Amino acid sequence: ASVIKVEHLTYIYGEGMPDATTALDDISFEIEKGEFLGVIGPTGCGKSTLITHFNGLNRPTRGKLYIDGEDIWADPKKIRQYRFKVGLVFQYPEYQLFEETVRKDIGFGPRNMGLSDEEVDQRVVEAARFCGLDEAVLERSPFELSGGQKRRAAIAGVIAMRPEVLVLDEPAAGLDPEGREMILSQVKRYHRETGTTVVLVSHSMEDIAKYADRVLVLQAGKVAMLDTTANIFARA
Ligand code: ADP
Ligand code: ADP
Repeated sequence: ASVIKVEHLTYIYGEGMPDATTALDDISFEIEKGEFLGVIGPTGCGKSTLITHFNGLNRPTRGKLYIDGEDIWADPKKIRQYRFKVGLVFQYPEYQLFEETVRKDIGFGPRNMGLSDEEVDQRVVEAARFCGLDEAVLERSPFELSGGQKRRAAIAGVIAMRPEVLVLDEPAAGLDPEGREMILSQVKRYHRETGTTVVLVSHSMEDIAKYADRVLVLQAGKVAMLDTTANIFARA
């Protein structure tokens, strides 16, 4: 069964303006429940525009987006619920870390969901553990963390919401090989242990080949290929 279904999705920045850009051009595909999907393609091909549609941050110019079979824009008043169903980890975690302590920061999402303090704290500790952050780190300021720890705290903040789909945009960008490996193998373990659907955006063929079950190749706003990792790399 599909968890996300994209149907004839077109997205145009500045529609009707002389400098309008068609970032996504009539694309259709489905993401299967529980899979680890890699999304790859050159800079400017539409990866960020695509993933910000998954939780309703962007609204299609044309076409539809379904989550668990529901057209998410059928009632725009209900769009907020999809922010919790599909957890997005942005490329630059600085945008997501803004509380005084790491504990508060990771708890931001679950607090927003209206969970009790006790449940929030339980989820924070669990998410931090998943991301390899020990309890002492939770009392520190997010600004004191290393680059790798910041990434892990940003991921923990999203998984603390227990989203149905975890979407990560270049979660290891700018880290050294050891840091990359640590982040990506933690994401993989999370996927294996919780069965959560994961979408990993990267322009590293190597990372995608190593971690993804299927690969979506975007090119100039179109789906160039969508196949199992083995088939995609057999062709490359
Ligand atoms: P990627 O994430 O693959 O680098 P993007 O989704 O960021 O691609 O960009 C897709 C296209 O949309 C590019 O041509 C880019 O220049 C354009 N674009 C992205 N964001 C904006 C924006 N805010 N305003 C206008 N054009 C944009
Ligand atoms: P519940 O979520 O109601 O506790 P589940 O059967 O969904 O029950 O999960 C069992 C345990 O697995 C949870 O208590 C939690 O520790 C862990 N777990 C499940 N899903 C997630 C998730 N998305 N993120 C982190 N931990 C999870």
